Amino acid sequence: MHAIASISQSALVHNLSIVNNFASKAKVVSMVKADAYGHHLELIQPLIDGSDLLAVSELVEVEKLRAKTNKPILLLSGIYSMDDLQKAIELNCQIVVHHPTQIAPLVQTQNKISVWLKVDTGMHRLGLSNQEYTDCLLSLQTNPLIKIECVMSHFACADEINHPMNATQLNHFNELTSHEKNRSMANSAAILSQSKSIFDFVRPGIMLYGASPFENDTVDLRPVMQLSAPVMSIKTVRTGESVGYGATWMADQKTRLAIIGIGYGDGYPRHAKNGTPVLVNNTLCSLVGRVSMDLICVDIGNAQVSIGDNAILWGDKKLRVETVARHSNTISYELLTGVSKRVKFVSTV
Ligand SMILES: *Cc1c(COP(=O)(O)O)cnc(C)c1O
Repeated sequence: MHAIASISQSALVHNLSIVNNFASKAKVVSMVKADAYGHHLELIQPLIDGSDLLAVSELVEVEKLRAKTNKPILLLSGIYSMDDLQKAIELNCQIVVHHPTQIAPLVQTQNKISVWLKVDTGMHRLGLSNQEYTDCLLSLQTNPLIKIECVMSHFACADEINHPMNATQLNHFNELTSHEKNRSMANSAAILSQSKSIFDFVRPGIMLYGASPFENDTVDLRPVMQLSAPVMSIKTVRTGESVGYGATWMADQKTRLAIIGIGYGDGYPRHAKNGTPVLVNNTLCSLVGRVSMDLICVDIGNAQVSIGDNAILWGDKKLRVETVARHSNTISYELLTGVSKRVKFVSTV
């Protein structure tokens, strides 16, 4: 008996179709970094097949992905040395340039390579300043083997629809890049809420996996990962008895508990609060007491539950990962990427 993450192939197809509905004229760069947001590259073939490009953060991720597909791959970190450049060329990936230090190795290329210039429009994480961008364009023109494929930038606050930085960044991007043939700005939140930020390429991530980037959601995204675990034990505690480490929860009445075989060692968040919903035999029940490494305890009230039944931790219409994230002071991204290797991953329709 162990925890299982089922990856729905039809949900991947459905969510990709939502991207295409919102950005029908744009090419889709699917974000599959961090092992496809924790869903495992092996189990997302419909996404690989249905995308125009795929993007990952590191060269080792490019290597893993290249073993599965001939599709164009974009390396978000770019290259820092001649060694990196050589590998990137061997793996036939496109690279991002986000810092002037990356120019020196790149201009020495003796092979064709496609480059995405990343400009900083206000997030102040990765990206070229206006001056650096102008300088870069000049330097890269000195080597005809280098093709500038696209100019991109990233929003800091796209998940807050009315945040003033969104318009500021978009204006900055429009002014700086109006002469460019190919541009890319929109992540999931922007695809869904800011049509003016949809240029030639869109870069969806979280929405492909069926989680909404917004607090209050209206889009019909389908959860791709369903995380489940078995009921290991059932017992009744009396009024005044506590449950779990630190005795942080105490029964205020006679309470039936199911002990479920999943914990922070599997990636279930240790900071999930008392009351975090867990779906047991289609009934929403409440987490009680601290999350342990291997186990959680759930108040099952009068629900019909037997040992061996499966509880769903997230990935159901009734219990989305966003809800668990909210109860754990985190975001769906962290929960999805954090499911550990002890969990068995399987493909489902
Ligand atoms: C991860 C990433 C995205 C996708 O963001 P989501 O919020 O998951 O849609 C887009 N662009 C860049 C540069 C990223 O690193």
